[in-house]
Amino acid sequence: MTDAIAKAAAVLARARRIAALTGAGVSTESGLPDFRSPGGLWAGVDPMEVASLTAFQRRPQVFYDFYRRRLLALAGAKPNPAHYALVTLERFGLQAVITQNVDGLHQAAGSRRVIELHGNLREAACVACRAVRPIAVLTEALDRGELPTCSTCGGPLKPNVVLFEELLPAAAYAAAEQECRLADVLLVAGSSLQVTPAAWLPEVARESGAAILIVNDEPTPLDHRAEVVLRGRAGAVLPALAAAVSGQRGERETSR
Ligand code: NAD
Repeated sequence: MTDAIAKAAAVLARARRIAALTGAGVSTESGLPDFRSPGGLWAGVDPMEVASLTAFQRRPQVFYDFYRRRLLALAGAKPNPAHYALVTLERFGLQAVITQNVDGLHQAAGSRRVIELHGNLREAACVACRAVRPIAVLTEALDRGELPTCSTCGGPLKPNVVLFEELLPAAAYAAAEQECRLADVLLVAGSSLQVTPAAWLPEVARESGAAILIVNDEPTPLDHRAEVVLRGRAGAVLPALAAAVSGQRGERETSR
């Protein structure tokens, strides 16, 4: 692993512009389960039954119960060393964190530019008029035993996340593609790379000549496309990587 860290750090240290793509695996060490690992959110649950647009429309109680559990888990969650390492990498050219996560932990850690591909759990959105409200409006209605509705048009409110059967926010995906095209390196961390279109982004970056680095605790379908694959926990690997880049950059600057 030390060799792989040094090799990946050398790739990052040479880069002028870096982008990161993160998934649920960067937040498991903050106590938030991912989707696909054993014990993850999908263990024993059919995602279409609880987190799809159809579930929201036809079984709102089941849908809201699922999201209430996620919101409760999120209430006490704090960024972990993986999130902070990505903040450190901004000193070495990291321009944007593109994330599939909806937990807001990159922002809580201090990342300056976060592109949220799948929305967020800070807000509720009206399905009819698209008005956005703080998530508390939704949870307070549920606490009163009511289905949350929009104060502007009376339409149903849902967490401002992308549900199965919904499209990604076009502006966020376009911004993510742009960062991938401009980057010399795309650092992917904690994603199974099974959910499209997010999982297409490494290919967008590669087609523009970027090197791909993958940090994950299990194989991904794009490992063979990566310059370096770092198998391990993001909370350990990313800080080691940031420290190694810092060391290599320092060495380079002192030898000039
Ligand atoms: P995923 O569950 O499909 O994959 C997570 C990957 O991370 C897996 O390959 C897993 O082995 C790996 N992993 C887990 N813990 C890790 C760790 N500590 N270090 C390194 N690797 C680790 O998640 P995904 O790829 O993000 O995509 C699926 C969807 O998950 C997205 O739509 C996203 O919105 C949603 N999601 C988000 C959160 C969150 O916001 N925290 C939580 C669960 C799911």
